[in-house]
Amino acid sequence: MKIITVLGARPQFIKASVVSHAIAQSGMLTEVVVHTGQHFDANMSDVFFSELGMVTPAYHLDIHGGTHGAMTGRMLAEVERVLLDEKPDAVLVYGDTNSTLAGALAAAKLHIPVAHVEAGLRSFNMAMPEEINRILTDRISRWLFTPTNVAAQHLAREGFTAEQIIPVGDVMYDVALHHGARVTAEGGLLQRLGLRPKNYLLATIHRAENTDHSERLAAIVDALEVTAESLQVVWPLHPRTRAVLQQAGRLEDLSRRMTLIEPVGYLDMVQLEKYAALIATDSGGVQKEAFFYQVPCVTVRDETEWVELVEAGWNRLAPPTDASSLRQDISEALGSCGKSVKPYGEGDAAQRIVKHLMLNL
Ligand code: UDP
Repeated sequence: MKIITVLGARPQFIKASVVSHAIAQSGMLTEVVVHTGQHFDANMSDVFFSELGMVTPAYHLDIHGGTHGAMTGRMLAEVERVLLDEKPDAVLVYGDTNSTLAGALAAAKLHIPVAHVEAGLRSFNMAMPEEINRILTDRISRWLFTPTNVAAQHLAREGFTAEQIIPVGDVMYDVALHHGARVTAEGGLLQRLGLRPKNYLLATIHRAENTDHSERLAAIVDALEVTAESLQVVWPLHPRTRAVLQQAGRLEDLSRRMTLIEPVGYLDMVQLEKYAALIATDSGGVQKEAFFYQVPCVTVRDETEWVELVEAGWNRLAPPTDASSLRQDISEALGSCGKSVKPYGEGDAAQRIVKHLMLNL
């Protein structure tokens, strides 16, 4: 049986790596990977395929840039063409990007069943493009693979049946267990950047709700700048964030005060995360990785889909409304830790997904 995986953004390459591996081992399923091209820089795309041992995509659609509607529309047309040629038994999509929605919609219209990995997450903020993408994708998926109990509860409340909701755990936990253990403090990026373990703050910012609102981005930058006076700040800049900071004329001065670097590969990122004193981020994946490596996290957003980490005390929400309150949240979080919890399954989410597909296709 043939599965087509549609992906296109950095976190999707990471999530798909473990599921693709499980598919390859199944002996029953074959996978054809379609890369939409949403993320295309070598350090936002290729590095993950080589580092995580993934097969080269059979199709590269090279679609990026433009408005959300234009990008999603082009993907829809191109993915449909591939599905008509390949005639798969199912389409597999991940998370909440435009590639997710385009893949799911193209398949659903052709009556090809859709499997959605990381289903049921909700921020309850419809201003987020991610929230629109995930709600619509869930609605048209046959199998909803949920990473947490909270995600499964959201779907049950929205009227999905027990047969459609399949709790498997979080594939990112699988990846962290698989790759995280082999990362140590020795050598690597830590050494190249001259960082001492547990002596720096790691920041990542890329969400439109922060990069597209100058006052929010200014509050984040100001808070990190003050923090950098007493604690080294390392910030791998997402291309979108770099472009906005450049345009705002802040990049040059910032680069003198903190360690601004290009996006890094997964294993370098794990090393930066694992040995950070604190992580400040608006990334979904990075919030969880902070917890996997037991590093306190400040989430620079108004809400989070990963509420269990806030409840357990590993993560605190810090809406970037003003720099001084964010700075305060950062200093309070330093040195803190949360309760011992295990909300993301057993590290076998990929196996469970593939097993379910084999039994139900
Ligand atoms: N990541 C990475 N290099 C970086 C920044 C992030 O490998 O320079 C990884 C990170 O470890 C996590 C994933 O990318 O696994 C998160 O992706 P992103 O923050 O782009 O998206 P989100 O998780 O918010 O959807």
